[in-house]
This record gives sequence, structure tokens and C-alpha cells, in this order.
Amino acid sequence: MQIYLDNAATTKMSAAAIEAMLPYMDTVYGNPSSLHSAGQVAAEALTDARQRIAACIGASPKEITFTSGGSESDNQAILSAARLGERRGKKHIISTAFEHHAVLHTLAKLEKEGFEITLLDVHENGIVLSQQVAEAIRDDTCLVTVMYANNEIGTIQPIKEIGAVCREKGILFHTDAVQAAGHLHIDVQEQNIDLLSLSAHKFHGPKGIGVLYARKGIPLTNVIEGGAQERGKRAGTENIPAIMGMAAALEEACTHIDANAKKLTVLRDKLIEGLSQISHSVLNGDAKQRLPGNVNFCFEGIEGESLLLLLDDKGICASSGSACTSGSLDPSHVLLAIGRVHDIAHGSLRLSLSEETTNEEIEYTIKAVAEVVEYLRSMSPIWRDLISGKKEFVIK
Ligand SMILES: *Cc1c(COP(=O)(O)O)cnc(C)c1O
Repeated sequence: MQIYLDNAATTKMSAAAIEAMLPYMDTVYGNPSSLHSAGQVAAEALTDARQRIAACIGASPKEITFTSGGSESDNQAILSAARLGERRGKKHIISTAFEHHAVLHTLAKLEKEGFEITLLDVHENGIVLSQQVAEAIRDDTCLVTVMYANNEIGTIQPIKEIGAVCREKGILFHTDAVQAAGHLHIDVQEQNIDLLSLSAHKFHGPKGIGVLYARKGIPLTNVIEGGAQERGKRAGTENIPAIMGMAAALEEACTHIDANAKKLTVLRDKLIEGLSQISHSVLNGDAKQRLPGNVNFCFEGIEGESLLLLLDDKGICASSGSACTSGSLDPSHVLLAIGRVHDIAHGSLRLSLSEETTNEEIEYTIKAVAEVVEYLRSMSPIWRDLISGKKEFVIK
């Protein structure tokens, strides 16, 4: 038995996505840049996929660039806006302290080049306010980049309001919507979005393929130089099978978005309720304004890595928060950003659900986590100090 509760790290491909890919690995294998008929069939498929993906987010096909995934889209979106700003003498960028590393590391690179970066506070509930963005905007601000939903604690940001603030001031707004896509509605027009990143493997599509949406008129800076694919903005032969799989996965997710959200929210809240019964535990991030499938807890007196290994023994695939920090001893920058102290941030557990998650799996998981936490605490010298009163509890 395996219970997969790490869908924020990656998802299983849907049957529809696999089926959509197969012909393009077998019979329709031409290069869309080739003039012969085999190439032209592939080119038609590419046009079709671009149209369907654009329709899912309220964009027009020309505004869609295919990339290798969320990281590349984030890099290209931010670098493009920075180069555009630079040319106008604007070198200030606003973001938040708990963005994905694809955003934060790109911003750090720009900072070394002389850009000034303001990282907004996300408060204990893990939500930034559009008012904070408005207050941080300066005459030399060229970009605001705020994620739609956080990948560790699932909190949803008021991107439409942030977009409106940026639109009013004529500043570009990018959102990393990698965790949101397929779970929350996206409409780039209505939500005032100029640049947006997507990644197929987070919504049951294949790995290594993503989208950068850039509103008409925004010139992109190349991250990969070479051929003239993607209107000259992203070189490299298009990954047609993956693009077809991504289009099918996104359409399927968007068709069932409300029904899936409703179902997942029930399971999520049951899991939150169950894990809240464990003493000295705390939910990370706002209880309501979060992704329908995201649960993230800290347990006092626990070391996250041991928790994960013991849960794996019980057949549960979970995460301590971010795949990027695993293997390092640094606590999650997201949990530090919402004010968790180091000791507490180390005892974190992220459980991310999928449409296939069952009620039985949730019940089993609640019991398993409670047992493992109790077991680990029974062996922990820190826990002994806490219950004997030698040390004070941080989580009441
Ligand atoms: C997974 C993820 C990324 C990176 O996407 P890849 O396709 O794996 O490069 C970026 N941002 C967020 C919020 C993510 O969850």
C-alpha cells in the first residue's frame, strides 16, 4: 500500500495526458519547424495546444511561450521585466519573503547586478496584502512578483488586487501560479496579470514542460539562445509530446476545478481537524485562504526528517515542506517567513492531496501521524525537558 500525499512536489500523470502524448512519440514525430508534411502535422498540433492552453487562462495564443517548466518561466519573466526596467532607469523590484527559490534566486542575482529588492512580510497567516504592495511601490519600481499560492503552506495571495495596484501605477505584475493552476481559477485579464508561470507536472501533466504567459506588447528576454522557435523568444525544438500532454492535463483540471476543489476541501479540513488533536501542534498558514489540497503542520519536539522516514515505513509519502531544502539542515524559508522559530520550523510536515485521495487514506494518515509523533516524542530529550518544565513550550 502506498498513500501519496506529496502532490505539491509532483503529481501522477492523468490517463488523458498520457493518451494525448502517445501519438506524438510514435506516428507524429516531425519537427514543427520542418517544411515537409510530417513537420506540418506537428506544427498544427502545436498551434492547437497553444490555443487550448491560452483559452484555459483567458489569454490569446500569441501570449503563450512554452518553456521547460516553472523554474524557467519564473527566470524568464523576472529577467524580462528587469531588462525592460533597466532600460528606463528603473531598478527596484517588489516580491515576498516566501516565494519559490526560482524567484528568490533570480532576484538575488539581479541584486548583485545593482537592482534593489524589497521582500514584503507575509505575516503569521502567510498572506501578503495589496496595501503593502501599494506602500512599497517607488518611482523606480519596474516589477512586482507575488506567487498565486505558496508551495509549502498553500496560502492564496490576493493577486487580482495586487494586479490592480500595479496596473494603476503602470508597473509590471508577475505571478508564479505553479501551485494554483488546475486548483484555482486563472483569468489573466480579470486578474490584471502581465506575466504568469505554469508547470505541467503540478497538475497531472508531464515533467519538464511549462508555460510563460506574457501580455501582448511585453518583450521577453531570451534565457536560451538559438533557433527561432517560440517567436524567437525561447530556442530549442518544441517538446511536442509534453506540450500535448500539458494541454490535455490543464483542460481536464480546469473542467473539473470546482468539483475537485469541493471534494478536496472536505478531506483537507478533516485532516486539519484530525492533526489539530495532537498536543502542541500548529497549522501553518491561514486555515481557509489556502489551496484545497494543502495541509502543513509543525509539531513541537519533533525532527521533521525522522517523521518523514517513519511515515514512509507506514506507506505514506509526505514532505517536510520543500523538496529544495531537503538534505540541507536549513529550516524552510517559508516557515521562517511566517515567524516560526528554527526549532519549530524543523518539526514541519506538509501533506498535499490529489483528486484521487480517499477518505480512508485521510483517516489512516491521521492515526499514523499521531502514532509517529508520540513515538518520536517518547524518545526525544527535548520533549522530556518540555514536559518536565525545564524548557518552555513554544506551541501551546
Ligand atoms: C514546483 C514549483 C516551481 C518549479 O517548477 P518546475 O517545473 O519544477 O521547474 C516553481 N514555483 C512553484 C510555486 C512551484 O511549486
